[in-house]
Amino acid sequence: MKNKFIQHIVVVGGGTAGWIAAASLAKILHNRGVRITLVESPEINIIGVGESTLPQVMQFLRNLGIDEKEFMAATQATYKLGTKFFDWSEVGEAFWHPFGNIGVDIDGHNFFAFLQKARKQGDPAQMWQYAPSAVLGEAGRYYSPGAATPESFLSGVNYALHFDAVKVAKYLKRFSEALGIQHVMETVVDASLHDNGFIDSLTLKDGRRLAGDFYIDCTGTNALLIGGVLNTQYINWNNYLLCDSAVIVQSDNSCDIPPYTKAIAHENGWRWEIPLRHRLGNGYVYSSEFCTPSQAENKLLELVQNPALDSLRHFQFQAGRREKLWNKNCLALGFAGGFLEPLESTAIYLSLKGIESFLELYPDNQCSLAIANEFNRRMAIEYENIRDFIILHYCISGRSDSPFWQKNKTMDVPRALLEKIALYQAQGRIYRNDLDLFKSSSWHAIFDGMGIVPDFYNPLIEGSNFKEVLNILSEVRGLMSKMAAGLPAHKEYLDKHCPV
Ligand SMILES: Cc1cc2nc3c(=O)[nH]c(=O)nc-3n(C[C@H](O)[C@H](O)[C@H](O)COP(=O)(O)OP(=O)(O)OC[C@H]3O[C@@H](n4cnc5c(N)ncnc54)[C@H](O)[C@@H]3O)c2cc1C
Repeated sequence: MKNKFIQHIVVVGGGTAGWIAAASLAKILHNRGVRITLVESPEINIIGVGESTLPQVMQFLRNLGIDEKEFMAATQATYKLGTKFFDWSEVGEAFWHPFGNIGVDIDGHNFFAFLQKARKQGDPAQMWQYAPSAVLGEAGRYYSPGAATPESFLSGVNYALHFDAVKVAKYLKRFSEALGIQHVMETVVDASLHDNGFIDSLTLKDGRRLAGDFYIDCTGTNALLIGGVLNTQYINWNNYLLCDSAVIVQSDNSCDIPPYTKAIAHENGWRWEIPLRHRLGNGYVYSSEFCTPSQAENKLLELVQNPALDSLRHFQFQAGRREKLWNKNCLALGFAGGFLEPLESTAIYLSLKGIESFLELYPDNQCSLAIANEFNRRMAIEYENIRDFIILHYCISGRSDSPFWQKNKTMDVPRALLEKIALYQAQGRIYRNDLDLFKSSSWHAIFDGMGIVPDFYNPLIEGSNFKEVLNILSEVRGLMSKMAAGLPAHKEYLDKHCPV
């Protein structure tokens, strides 16, 4: 077989992952003579959760040329400045994992070393007070960093969105169709293979045959092509992460709209609150080893303050990923490729990263093994970095007040993460690889928030005039909190700039 350009890509599945893939492909390929078809089953609903995102989603919208405010109005979106964690280090304690900067380097040394020294000398200031996004969030304020001058503390703010996942899928569908995507509403029931094991064509329930050069499997937990047809192994990480279930419910959101996600630790897992314009998303992620679905339901309903707007929905999942997310002429995105609990809102990011890397390594019809291997290498590192970051929240937590938290202390911890913890413990330093989604400041935020105190700090900061540093730190804190107080409340900003 001779090398040829790919002429037809078939995306199977019309959930968040499917429409992210279709929209990205359409934007890049629509004027390059490549046909794109998305087929989705009218009988299998999309999962329709996944409402808290990371700042990379903003770049995705910009790349597609989508107007932020118009998208926000169409998806009932609100701004997210980070996640605030409650009761994780111990019950009654809270900390921030903000987007954007936390402090700035001083005398060429990492800010956190100065913070650690200040702590050792009894300075009570908390890390979030040096993070512009967290200062805004804590005050319930929002202002676009795009409007900030470089010297303003707002230039250190970064943000993402909370949105209605069902409305996002609909929005991206309209966007993709306008760029010429073909949309087929039918269930795929079978697939035939070439002699070399590549997928030749799909058989639809109505008997039609759909043949492409390349297939993107976004069929959610069905993993129809990557799992069912190509039998690609699933690497299970349940030895590292206990949570395997979730129950969700939407509730009324007539009160305040905080510009951040709440992640509240509980006896058998944790609960989220995600504020949208028209409702509050609530979910309880738990371990089925310690809690039954009906206990989880009762717990969630007990904690949801406003009236529920719909019935409860249950999910089961297995933390892990496909051994190969790209196998032969098939790529898996979304649930079909893998899943990590939504504690750090990383699933949509992984779909974005998957399609971005695919386009970077865009193949011809031969789908060289070398290209697939490179894609799989990158995505494996992405998944493992995120996995380790999530495990960190459990393995360094100070909680041991329930069998769930006690068992967390006995779970396996990947070696790379153990080394990272040891390095932080020794001198408050962070080692991360180039593909790590989370910057050093994110790792610092979790270590510090969980109350881990390093044995020492970077000795090289001793060359700085520490009295002066302390004065600057205190001045910066004061200035930031004063500026935040003068900015609009989040809801006020939304009403003015993105009316729904
Ligand atoms: C409880 C929970 C909370 C979450 N919260 C977040 C969050 O806050 N942030 C975040 O980033 N992510 C979150 N996620 C993850 C997020 O929901 C998923 O990344 C996202 O929904 C992707 O889903 P999907 O498109 O892979 O699958 P689905 O939404 O399940 O879509 C599957 C599609 O495949 C189609 N399909 C299936 N079988 C066939 C077939 N045989 N023929 C044709 N079509 C077929 C279906 O019709 C459907 O269109 C959360 C997940 C869970 C479970």
